[in-house]
Amino acid sequence: MLLLGSHISTQGGPSNAIERAVHIGCTAMQIFVKNNMQWHATPFTEAEATAFTQHPLHNKLGAIVAHAGYLINLGVEKTINHEKSLLSLAQELIRCEQLHIPFLVLHPGSHLGAGAAHGIRCVVESLNQIHADHPNLQVRIALETTAGQGSCLGSSFKELASILEQVSSPDRLRICLDTAHVFAAGYDLSSPQGAEKVFHEFDRIVGLHQLCVLHINESKASLGSRVDRHDNLGQGKIGLEAFRWIMQAEELAPIPKILETPKGKDLVEDVVAMKLLRSFIPNFL
Ligand code: FE
Ligand code: FE
Ligand code: ZN
Repeated sequence: MLLLGSHISTQGGPSNAIERAVHIGCTAMQIFVKNNMQWHATPFTEAEATAFTQHPLHNKLGAIVAHAGYLINLGVEKTINHEKSLLSLAQELIRCEQLHIPFLVLHPGSHLGAGAAHGIRCVVESLNQIHADHPNLQVRIALETTAGQGSCLGSSFKELASILEQVSSPDRLRICLDTAHVFAAGYDLSSPQGAEKVFHEFDRIVGLHQLCVLHINESKASLGSRVDRHDNLGQGKIGLEAFRWIMQAEELAPIPKILETPKGKDLVEDVVAMKLLRSFIPNFL
């Protein structure tokens, strides 16, 4: 089964996202499990959780992942915001668990001037603390590759690998690769040869077996710009060949592919992009 979909709004409750996703032909989807610009949320009610997990269309989605809120930053030392980040992340993990969502995509964090090495140490300690405080969670945090804007950590495969190497329970983590982010970070996947090289390098440094989600985004920003601006497929700086290669790569076939590209309320752009991506797979029915 091709696992292809997009980031879907949960407006009106998380179960509504399932309906929206299936309605536009998604076989995978990503959601926020709480308002992505707010710190805290209490657990879902029993009714909200079962409306989601028991939804009659739930089995049409072969993969459901969540994306963590944007305020969370694990890359800093014990500050008020760091305390809030730990609490917020724990609340999101619990909400994922209630919805039986296996992966929560998280940007590793920003060092805010203290330097990458220090930032990575903070991320590692924060993840260790979260893991220690919540030993029985099934949901895994999937650290996302970033564009490297400002002091954002995670723009190189090496940084992500070093987090995986240093945490006490690396098996509780996975990785999400975002095409727009890696391109802006300097990984040139614009040609088929380039894409092959980038994924080969990812495999060598991080390991393809760690990859649990692909974010399929075009980039408005150029190669190596370190600027995070998503664009629609066919309109950005990466070009369609990269996406054709990704859709055809056998090793990436089982990985859920999620669009995070600009769209209006009717989600027409997602429908068009998914149709284009499917057309890249030879003999796809
Ligand atoms: Fe992200
Ligand atoms: Fe992303
Ligand atoms: Zn982005």
